[in-house]
Amino acid sequence: MEGHSERLALGMHIERLTHLLCVMILAAVAVAGVPDAWAQGGNGIARPASTSVIAAAVTVRAEADRTLFSVTLSEPVEANAHLMEGPDRVIVDLPEVAFHVPTDQGSKREGLIASYRFGLFAPGRSRVVIDLSQPATVADIRVQTDAPGGAAVLIIELKHADRDEFRKVMAANPAKSAKVGPEREAVAEKADERPIIVIDPGHGGIDPGANGANGIVEKDLVLTFARELRKRLSNSGYYRVVLTRDEDVFISLGDRVRAARGAKADLFISIHADSISGGQGVRGLTVYTGAERASDAESARLADRENKADAAAGMDSTDGPDEVVDILQELTSRETRSFSHRFAGRLVGELDSVAQLNKNPRREAGFRVLRAHDVPSVLLELGYLSSRKDLDLLVSDEWRGKAIGSMAVAIDRFFAQRLARQGAAAVSP
Ligand SMILES: [Zn+2]
Repeated sequence: MEGHSERLALGMHIERLTHLLCVMILAAVAVAGVPDAWAQGGNGIARPASTSVIAAAVTVRAEADRTLFSVTLSEPVEANAHLMEGPDRVIVDLPEVAFHVPTDQGSKREGLIASYRFGLFAPGRSRVVIDLSQPATVADIRVQTDAPGGAAVLIIELKHADRDEFRKVMAANPAKSAKVGPEREAVAEKADERPIIVIDPGHGGIDPGANGANGIVEKDLVLTFARELRKRLSNSGYYRVVLTRDEDVFISLGDRVRAARGAKADLFISIHADSISGGQGVRGLTVYTGAERASDAESARLADRENKADAAAGMDSTDGPDEVVDILQELTSRETRSFSHRFAGRLVGELDSVAQLNKNPRREAGFRVLRAHDVPSVLLELGYLSSRKDLDLLVSDEWRGKAIGSMAVAIDRFFAQRLARQGAAAVSP
C-alpha cells in the first residue's frame, strides 16, 4: 500500500509527520513564514513552537454541491486528507490538536457530511474522521491565517462526486494505516515470575465507543475502570499489570492483541460498556469469550460493532493475513480457550453478588480483540449506557469499587495455584 505523496506544501517545513502519514489526496497546506510571525504574536509575546495547538471551533457550511468543513485553530498546522470507502469517509490527519469543542457536535447531518468526530489518534497526532452522506472528494484543503484574533482556519472543501470518481481518487491515493505502538513497557522481562495481566480499556481518542446520556462516553468510563482495576491488582503485589492505553488515545484492535502477546500476558481483560438503541430495558453485565461462531444474534451484533473500532478511527479495518496456524498453535489455542472459559466463569460467579448481570451473562462471539491464541482473553461489557439504571451504576464510585473488588477475587482464584507456588501468602478470600 505504499504510494507517493503529492504534497502541495506551501512553504512550511514538512515535519516528522511526513514519514508517518501515508499518501494524501490533497496535501499539506501552510502559509509561508507563518510559524515565526505567529510565534512573535501580535502582542509581542513569544510562544514556544511546541505549544500545543487548540481547535476552538468546528463549523460546517453546505452550499449547492459543496460542503465546507472548517476548524478554527490557535495556529496553522499541516493537514492531510485521504478518502476511505465502506462507509465513505474523509480522514484528516493533523499534528496533535486539543479540541475544545463539544464531542456531540459532530452528530448533525449537513450537506455532504453525515457526521464527524475528532480526537487524538496517537501521541502527537490528531485526526478528524468525516462520515459522508454521499460520495464526495476533497476539492481543496487550505489554511487561512487572516482570521480574527490571529487564529488560523483549516478549511476542507468537499465536492459531490459519483461512485466511480470517488473510487478513482481513493485508488490513486490509497491510505496506508500507520502503526500505533503499544506501550513499550508491555514488553516485560520474565525474571519477575508474577502473572502479567493486561487490561484493555476499549476505544479511545478519536473512537469514543458507545454514548450515554449527559455526554458520558464509553472510552472515558472504561479508562477510569481500568485504571482503578490496575491500582487494585498492583497494590496486592501479586501481579504485574499493564494497560493497553493509559490516556485518551486510539489503539487499533490489532495493537491491543499485540500488546497482550508482546507482554507475554497470562490474562487479557478488555473492558467495554455497550449501548443498544430502543432498548432501555436491556441491561446488565456480560462476560464474553472469543469464538468463531457467536452464541446468539445479539452477541454477533455487538462483536460486529466492537470490531468496527478501527474503521471508526479511519483505519483500514481488514485484518492482515491470518497467522499460519500450525498444529502446535492449534493445541495452544485450544488450551487458551479453556482457560478463557474458566476465567469468564469465575468472573461471572464473583460479579453475580455485586453487579446486575445480563439475563445471559456468559456469551461468545468473534471479537477481534480476543484473538491472541496464547493469552487467555475475555471481554467484559460492564453494562448498557442506554439503560438509565446501568448508567447510574457505571458512574458510581461505590459500584465500581465493588465490581473491581469482585474482579480481583476472581483473578486471585484464577491464579490461585500459581500464586501458592510462588508463595503468595494470603489470597483474597
Ligand atoms: Zn466497546
